[in-house]
Amino acid sequence: MPVDLQQMMEAHELLRKFYHHLLVNTKDGQHALEYLLNRGFTMESIEKFQIGYSLKSWDFVFKFLTKRKFPADVMERAGLIIKREKDGNYFDRFRDRIMFPIFDRSGNTIAFSGRSLGDDEPKYLNSPETAIFNKSKTLYNFHLARPQIKKLQRAVLFEGFADVIAADRAGVGNGVGTMGTALTDEHVASLRRNVQSITICYDSDNAGIEAAYRAANLLMEAGCQIRVALMPDGYDPDDYINEFGEEKFRHDVIESSITFMAFKLLYLRRGKRLQNEGDRLLYIEEVLKEISQLDKAVERDHYLRQLANEFSLSLEALKEQQKQVYYTEK
Ligand code: ATP
Ligand code: MN
Ligand code: MN
Ligand code: MN
Repeated sequence: MPVDLQQMMEAHELLRKFYHHLLVNTKDGQHALEYLLNRGFTMESIEKFQIGYSLKSWDFVFKFLTKRKFPADVMERAGLIIKREKDGNYFDRFRDRIMFPIFDRSGNTIAFSGRSLGDDEPKYLNSPETAIFNKSKTLYNFHLARPQIKKLQRAVLFEGFADVIAADRAGVGNGVGTMGTALTDEHVASLRRNVQSITICYDSDNAGIEAAYRAANLLMEAGCQIRVALMPDGYDPDDYINEFGEEKFRHDVIESSITFMAFKLLYLRRGKRLQNEGDRLLYIEEVLKEISQLDKAVERDHYLRQLANEFSLSLEALKEQQKQVYYTEK
């Protein structure tokens, strides 16, 4: 490995340990620790995920790493410090934030994400793309989750750091996070190399549902078997676990996940008033299109019957209509 890359990783290792120390052992980190404990994080999770705290200082990292003989340009290219245009001075990227180390699949620290304690924007500040951190390839917690993923032959996909960590506390250790960014082809490829069955457990808000729909399509194209885990409107997994408990999360969310087709039906219903004739006919047409695309005849039959029952339609009419939808599509 080139000397530079090695130094970048070493700098991240040192900082991870020091940030963690600041959080758990010092007065400077006390308010950050209280914030985490109030949010339902446990000391056990804080240890396991090596969560830390970055000081409210403009040059702590710069001094800390300079003392240990790291060149400034290495720190800068590692994304840890930023050069100010006007005077060429350096300042720390992360200040007064909860620090989530991001690990590569071997467990090396390659980046950080820092969460603000109050309402400071941005809520999460990430390391930039660097020689050691490729965001579109990295999944949060993959290094810890991989053995569980192999054992259970299933991975669970979350949006956020807090979600992965709360789920782990709730006994769902096969979870990985996309860190808010959209799921990329590279994420899909590295998941697919390890596992075929994937449960998507994104936030149950608009953004989360749209993202889940997109992710499910991408994963399906890669040959994955998808289930989607849903929560009441507006909840994310971390909120849900804190409000309803670990047991209920496992049982009512993860184990009650639905098939991709069932999720599509819910997705197509969103924003429609099915008592309204126009919306109802549109919905039926969209569902017929989805049914035509199912591979298995048994599944097509199942969903056709379900649709016929729900709207008191005859199977014959639906099949007739389906032919039209199908042929106009082609
Ligand atoms: P929290 O529970 O700490 O409030 P969250 O995970 O619920 O955070 P969301 O708004 O649901 O936050 O965003 C999901 C994920 O998207 C975050 O965990 C983070 O990885 C990423 N993210 C959110 N906001 C930003 C941001 N401003 N910049 C970069 N990444 C972000
Ligand atoms: Mn969200
Ligand atoms: Mn969220
Ligand atoms: Mn949250």
